[in-house]
Amino acid sequence: MSPTTVSCPTCGRELEWSAAPFRPFCSERCRLIDLGAWLTEQRAIPGETAPAEPSSEGSPEDEPAKGPAHR
Ligand SMILES: [Zn+2]
Repeated sequence: MSPTTVSCPTCGRELEWSAAPFRPFCSERCRLIDLGAWLTEQRAIPGETAPAEPSSEGSPEDEPAKGPAHR
């Protein structure tokens, strides 16, 4: 008999369902993160003037082009 485990939607960590106080999240932090992301998404209205903020996380597509297989 294996305990029912679920994966945290935020970090993907597995947790025991019956022992997770913040299910389906593994912790309150993950729950808040998910909620924050959801709210942010709701707020992202097309056409709205986005605040000028340096996006240091934005990484350009730096994938190697499809070519001969390098080994
Ligand atoms: Zn988590």
